Amino acid sequence: MTDGRALARTYLEQQRLLGGDGVVLPDSEPANQPSATPRASPGKTETPPSDTLAPAGLTFDPPSDDLFSTDPIQQATDLEAIARLVAACTKCRLCEHRTNTVPGEGPADARLVVVGEGPGRTEDETGRPFVGQAGQLLTKILGAIELKREQVFICNVVKCRPPENRTPQYDEVAACVPYLFRQIDLLKPKVILAMGNAAAQTLLNTKQSLGALRNRVHRFRGIPVIVTYHPAALLRNPNWKRPTWDDVRIARRLLDG
Ligand code: URA
Ligand code: SF4
Repeated sequence: MTDGRALARTYLEQQRLLGGDGVVLPDSEPANQPSATPRASPGKTETPPSDTLAPAGLTFDPPSDDLFSTDPIQQATDLEAIARLVAACTKCRLCEHRTNTVPGEGPADARLVVVGEGPGRTEDETGRPFVGQAGQLLTKILGAIELKREQVFICNVVKCRPPENRTPQYDEVAACVPYLFRQIDLLKPKVILAMGNAAAQTLLNTKQSLGALRNRVHRFRGIPVIVTYHPAALLRNPNWKRPTWDDVRIARRLLDG
């Protein structure tokens, strides 16, 4: 876009969609202009303190690809096959209280994969990811970087709802994560957006908190990973909307690059 007024309009509209508290003009370049891999900007003041986040705690050894594996997850050749395996899965205690499994949804050629933590009540009732209140905010966040929800593959670390929406436990994540990893292997997205501590720590195999991980480009099996706040956290803390906006813009530039 070359017209400054049109650009300003787009920017304000994006701020409105994200529920921005004020107008924040881009530092040096338009939001939709491709650029080199972004780096952390020095002297940031808005980054919320990481000590307000849930304590870090997940770590595990990612299973390696095995060409000769007899594991049905590794043998699944499409996303529907993964969804069928998930629907029948009883590998962890989360199967006991689920109404529906929530494997994830989106096109097989999606260039962006969004990873959340786990299904909530509405997701458990419908079998679809991010359809409750947090999901509506996710749809707005995607819209702000000119993506329709239908263009994105949306899924979670665990595919069954944890009781009372508690954080999934170590053994539950360890049991479920092969599904997510196989989904990513099949999708081969250009960028992964990890929303919240569980997704970030699982994909990056770290205990570091989200505050320390965001605003940088990480990799999962060679694919760029951007870490940002979970939409449910944004509903509780609107101060995190600005940093989230910064993070999703990095994802947008990587998609354009
Ligand atoms: N929160 C998540 O992490 N995932 C969903 O699907 C819905 C809410
Ligand atoms: Fe299986 Fe994952 Fe559901 Fe646990 S959460 S029962 S591992 S699909």
